[in-house]
Amino acid sequence: MQSPLDDLNPEQRRAVTFDGPALMVAAGPGSGKTRVVTRRIAYRIQQRGVRSDRTLAVTFTNRAAREMSARVHHLIDHHTHVPIGTFHWMCAGILRRRIGVLGYRSDFRLLQPWEARKMLHTVVPAAQGKDGSLLTGLADAVSGLKSGIRLEALAERNSIPVERLRRIADDYQRALRAANALDLDDLPYLAAKILREQAHIRELCRTAVDELLVDEYQDTNGVQQELVELLAPVHGTVVVVGDEDQAIYGWRHADAGGFQRFRTAFPSTEVVTLERSYRHHKYVARAANALIAGDENRLKKSIRTDLPAGDLPVCFAAADERDEAEWIAGEIARLTSLGKLQWSDIAVLYRINAQSRALEDALVRHSIPYRVLSGRSFYAREHVQRVYAYLRLALDSHDDTAAEVLLQSVSSLGPGRMGELRQRAQAQNTALVDSLACAHEIPRFPQSLRSALKVTHDRISTVRALRKSSLGQVVDAAVRAAGCDLDAEGKLTESVVEDFAEVRAVARMHHARRGTLRSLLDGATVDDSSSDSSNSVRMMSLHSAKGLEYRAIFMTGVEEGLLPHARSLQRTAEVEEERRLCYVGMTRAKDILCLSYAQSRLFGGRGTTGQPSRFIQEIGLHNMAFKVTTAKRITPRLATTRTGDRVRHTRWGTGTVEVVEGTGRDTLTTILFDTGGRRRLQLCHAPLSIDGEGPPDVFTG
Ligand code: ATP
Ligand code: MG
Repeated sequence: MQSPLDDLNPEQRRAVTFDGPALMVAAGPGSGKTRVVTRRIAYRIQQRGVRSDRTLAVTFTNRAAREMSARVHHLIDHHTHVPIGTFHWMCAGILRRRIGVLGYRSDFRLLQPWEARKMLHTVVPAAQGKDGSLLTGLADAVSGLKSGIRLEALAERNSIPVERLRRIADDYQRALRAANALDLDDLPYLAAKILREQAHIRELCRTAVDELLVDEYQDTNGVQQELVELLAPVHGTVVVVGDEDQAIYGWRHADAGGFQRFRTAFPSTEVVTLERSYRHHKYVARAANALIAGDENRLKKSIRTDLPAGDLPVCFAAADERDEAEWIAGEIARLTSLGKLQWSDIAVLYRINAQSRALEDALVRHSIPYRVLSGRSFYAREHVQRVYAYLRLALDSHDDTAAEVLLQSVSSLGPGRMGELRQRAQAQNTALVDSLACAHEIPRFPQSLRSALKVTHDRISTVRALRKSSLGQVVDAAVRAAGCDLDAEGKLTESVVEDFAEVRAVARMHHARRGTLRSLLDGATVDDSSSDSSNSVRMMSLHSAKGLEYRAIFMTGVEEGLLPHARSLQRTAEVEEERRLCYVGMTRAKDILCLSYAQSRLFGGRGTTGQPSRFIQEIGLHNMAFKVTTAKRITPRLATTRTGDRVRHTRWGTGTVEVVEGTGRDTLTTILFDTGGRRRLQLCHAPLSIDGEGPPDVFTG
């Protein structure tokens, strides 16, 4: 078995063997910070006699915790149990034993985010706007409060009067407590409250552990930082490890000042910095350094590496999101067929989950096995399935499986009553949907359930009535129906709205290719059978890629509006967080790094012209090899236009828009060209730009 001190450089060794009360390791990506944590755990247990159950290691995600645990067990006996987990896991452990002091029962229920949202909604019924944005703002503010952000700052950020926010937060907390329920933010929040207020519990906890280690410290929030201070072992060591350049959770209330705060709390902190990256070769390091150097407000540090040069990162300009996905799938097929890489050496990263759909479609077309690591595969998401269930019923009212998808969320329809509905349908030889129409005849069902079933039946009928209309119309109706269901359940979150826009976009695209409702549904039946195989391409959001490494990284959608995300553009600090997110993505690559952007993207149900991200320009032309799509349509296409706009066509020159019909992909425009001709053109296909705007950028070749 390997010794914990093998293959460590002198700084890493110093960190692993350090014996004082507080240690901080601050260093760049790939420099071996996580290696220090795992080696230190093994070293302290094996060579310094620390009991494994008196060691506690905390990281950010369950996946990172599993990975850390595997690395530790590579070094020590497999039967030795070492407590390693997330902050939530650690706090839940404390609370199950100690929450009685706050008046909760120890069998408290932990709410899913959507359940918590529903509870908030019951406290503030007026808050649910059409798109859920009001409730989202409130949920965010309440979460911020429990993460250590000041009430005044949150009230200002969310435009809510201070007193109102305080009242809502108090009412919400009372409702949670009455239900003996906790939301996820409550875990650190209430654990810290107990440790802060109950000195004897604090001392018990502090003496129960000899070694407390926290990885990815840059992403902790104020309450988690306080927890680390409260739990610092009386006789052992507290170790925090991280990289400020990789702080990407400000939007979830992480507090950038964590390292400084730690040094203030523990004045004798030993600080170790690690200089060299063992992950990146020279060209990846150079590109990532160029990007992060653009952040003016950081301590200047850069990745240094002694590894052989490797290949220049590639930047690919795609025509649209399908072309981008197709190129990536082609590259993956090429790299693996050469025998250079396994599927599992490759990860495809995206900024928002809705991007995964086009990528998944291309991977399926190329028979490339993949596994979606963040969130679920697009078509497997509950809300997407719900839209498709409406569509399936529109096509075939006897599709009972689809009906059950819709019925499973009807409250108070348990398995018993569901069985009764099924039996009635069988007895009458009708479809399950038809039995809903007569649900009012079942006297044993409470009135509220009968009404809920009628509502479901009516929604199905509304969508079904449109089955002979255009594909766009029937899909819109299905999205609306699913949206109403989710709204009523308090589940209409922003990411759901984004996914719905994507469902609409898929339908429009399908329509443009003369597809039918049936072929649309067939296309959605993605063969996911390979998804459990460990040798598969990994797909995940940039946020969930942190801490991981792959031999080849494909970063998609590196465009203005996606990365940096449109939401961040108003505030410099948020654009800087997007820059760090891009940096995190790039620095996951060991050998091959490919960035791509699409010059037009169907997004939010509309076509948009994509400008390459400012980050591509900052990384610099000399730091990447540029490739341009061979697909024909790379001229910019207009997303929207209005009557009177002056536009330019690549062939017919300038003209004025006279008539605009329809929306999104289906938009038709009639243009009177200056040469005298009048033409009716489909906006998404015609090579049109606003007159005076050139091609989008220097990279279009
Ligand atoms: P990140 O900031 O992305 O989380 P990190 O600093 O935690 O990165 P690690 O994941 O610990 O970096 O290490 C990066 C890679 O370098 C791993 O594959 C690790 O095994 C390897 N590595 C680290 N230190 C050494 C070393 N001294 N010798 C050889 N390989 C090393
Ligand atoms: Mg790490």
